[in-house]
Amino acid sequence: MSKRRPIIAGNWKCHKTVPEAVELAAQVVQAVAPIQGVEVALCPPFIALNAVRRELSGSAVGLGAQNVYLEEGAYTGEIAPRMLTGLCDYVIIGHSERRHQFGEDDQLINAKLRTLLAHDLAPILCVGEKLEQNERGETEAVVAAQLRAGFKGVDGQRFLALGGIIAYEPVWAIGTGKACHGPTANRIIGRLRQLFGDLYGPEAAEALRIQYGGSVKPANVDEFMEQPEIDGALVGGASLQLEAFLPLVQRTAALRAATE
Ligand code: PEP
Repeated sequence: MSKRRPIIAGNWKCHKTVPEAVELAAQVVQAVAPIQGVEVALCPPFIALNAVRRELSGSAVGLGAQNVYLEEGAYTGEIAPRMLTGLCDYVIIGHSERRHQFGEDDQLINAKLRTLLAHDLAPILCVGEKLEQNERGETEAVVAAQLRAGFKGVDGQRFLALGGIIAYEPVWAIGTGKACHGPTANRIIGRLRQLFGDLYGPEAAEALRIQYGGSVKPANVDEFMEQPEIDGALVGGASLQLEAFLPLVQRTAALRAATE
């Protein structure tokens, strides 16, 4: 495990009513309060952000949105960055479900990244290859292209100063129960860090937090969190119940404490 502070973030996707979100947030706040050395963030659906924010207030648990649009205006159904400023800490962009089910391309994701920085919001930029790309041996090339495109024209220092994060999430591992092999995820994440260093220098690369995401659960969390390049996890399915989410935070904290 690295010296960077790991972050376990729960992406609740399109799950939970507002009362259910509030209930789970309250459980998480209480359960993680005594745990040191790991940051925890929750990313509920938009309509629950405000209620969950109230629940998190006074705790160290961070709040994230799952998506954002570029600006205010005649964009029915969208949410603008200014609406999130002051409401949440993080905003997930480039999630594979946005890229592949909603047709978001690198250019749009880059624009989202830039607008988030302009609105003092920390992006969690997701990158990851599809199964066929993985099978063709194209993983590094795909994620490198996504990273370069995502950061085009971006001030890397500002990204870091706001607490920006990258999440490596192989598309074939998301919600499938087929997680990436820990050492493989470590290698790809190391490569992403190197690329970030090529853009912004070695110190920036060293400071950057990069999560792994894709079927992380209590049974496999150690395999990822013991890797030196991996700075936490972005968690979908296992973030929806405290019984599955809490052990991820506890194990990450235990592994970190063991390396200190
Ligand atoms: C995700 O949606 O970002 C994710 C990693 O999902 P899961 O943990 O369910 O694979």
